[in-house]
Amino acid sequence: MAQAPTGIGKTVGTLFPMLKALAPQQLDKVFFLTAKTPGRKLALDAAQVILDSADAPPLRVLEMIARDKACEHPDKACHGESCPLALGFYDRLPAARQAASQLSLLALREVALQHDVCPYYLSQEMARWADVVVADYNYYFDFSALLFGLAQANNWKVAVLVDEAHNLVERGRQMYSASLDQATLNSVRKTAPEPLKRSLQRVNREWNALHDQQLSPYQAYDKAPEKLLQALSLCCASIGDYLNDHPQGLDSGLQNFYFDMLQFGRVAELFDEHFLFDISKRDLERKRNLSQLCLRNVVPAAFIRPRLTAARSAVLFSATLSPRHYYADLLGTPANTVWIDVESPFSAEQLQVHIVSQISTRFVHRQASLEPIVELIAKQFTQRPGNYLAFFSSFDYLQQVAQLLAERHPHITLWSQSRGMGERPRQAFLDQFTVHGQGVGFAVLGGAFGEGIDLPGARLIGAFIATLGLAQLNPVNEQMKQRMAAIFGAGYDYTYLFPGVQKVVQAAGRVIRTQQDQGVVMLIDDRFGESKVKQLLPRWWSIKSALF
Ligand code: SF4
Repeated sequence: MAQAPTGIGKTVGTLFPMLKALAPQQLDKVFFLTAKTPGRKLALDAAQVILDSADAPPLRVLEMIARDKACEHPDKACHGESCPLALGFYDRLPAARQAASQLSLLALREVALQHDVCPYYLSQEMARWADVVVADYNYYFDFSALLFGLAQANNWKVAVLVDEAHNLVERGRQMYSASLDQATLNSVRKTAPEPLKRSLQRVNREWNALHDQQLSPYQAYDKAPEKLLQALSLCCASIGDYLNDHPQGLDSGLQNFYFDMLQFGRVAELFDEHFLFDISKRDLERKRNLSQLCLRNVVPAAFIRPRLTAARSAVLFSATLSPRHYYADLLGTPANTVWIDVESPFSAEQLQVHIVSQISTRFVHRQASLEPIVELIAKQFTQRPGNYLAFFSSFDYLQQVAQLLAERHPHITLWSQSRGMGERPRQAFLDQFTVHGQGVGFAVLGGAFGEGIDLPGARLIGAFIATLGLAQLNPVNEQMKQRMAAIFGAGYDYTYLFPGVQKVVQAAGRVIRTQQDQGVVMLIDDRFGESKVKQLLPRWWSIKSALF
């Protein structure tokens, strides 16, 4: 595990030595795994730097793209009767594979379309023929991960690089959880083929029986629901039989629900104290209320550890892997894991960090905090005009502050993140941060702009962080807290504090990107002054209390 500040070249710094180790360690492949699309782009850029070097090694680098992004016919199904790129795929595959194998950086769309084959399935084929595969985490860590499966089946010796590894906790939980929605069950019951209706009906009956014991809209249990699981298993068997007799398949709604049931059954088999089973009802008052069932993974360590130890070598790196025991406990890194904390190349003089302890951003104090936050932003902006980011815990909070700032200080340009922002509007948001620009971008902490964005030099000179990043206080998080307390004896820290401060440090990390950058970070909340919070902040920061 390597903790190293953002912007110092972790991507090329991990990839290059691993490539050097390919021959002496007789490695078959390097898997570079990322949490988000921008991470893949950085890895491909790093690979390109290496490929462009004077004595470039003869490498093939492949990017795996998710099916929904790589698909050329999203309105079709993946078989020859529906999609022209699936029809005759294996007839044309050898020529397409041959053409793709001539490339160093395997941009497969062009090759695939030249040979009339599906780019997504061609990339899966080329995984066998690439030296470096850049892919999302799920290609290696998911239950049915392609890269892990290939490595096992072929006895490959692989090296695994896990980029921005702090994300693996939450992504791991998602991969090893399963949920079912009763509204979906009701809709597929109506359209299901006649022979399947009875078994779906039985699932619904057992599901409703669970509601009898439920007293509140949300309830968590230590055990998985046995009778419902039996009904689900019988239902999956009936659908399996039906598919044997009807190879043309099911409609997409029932097919997706079938996959959800299979995942639910699979997770149920693994259910132990590292999971919760919970039922969320939509509306307790309504007579026929519907619910959502979730087998919720709380600690993914038991599933991640075997994937890490199956590799010849695994390097997990990020700017925020503190505290070490938290990530070791949740990611299941083996006891002999080497841990390095790379010194920051930045100096404390480059970044003024202020704790603004006169303001509380707690929910009950929110209204009272609006005006002081607005005046703080305006004062800083007047003292040093330029580009800033301001982070909040929610869109509501963000809008309230943005609105008041616009009223009180109309000369300050501001732009705001919106809910569900697509890739283009996100890029447009970032494009406003120009070298000669001046304005304040409002964003939600832990969202699209809280990590993985690079605004060097004058493109970003400061950040206001008006939240500790604590997860919302809700019944699910409270259950997680209880479970964390039972397993690790640190419920609040493991559920709220550590993940929250990690987001704060990531967001603050947007400000200083090079050794020439100068900037300011305002940590707005009295709790930032508490020693247990301060000790989670980067050691190279020199923190002052701000008076305003
Ligand atoms: S075969 Fe490929 S192009 Fe065709 S529908 Fe499936 S993913 Fe899309």
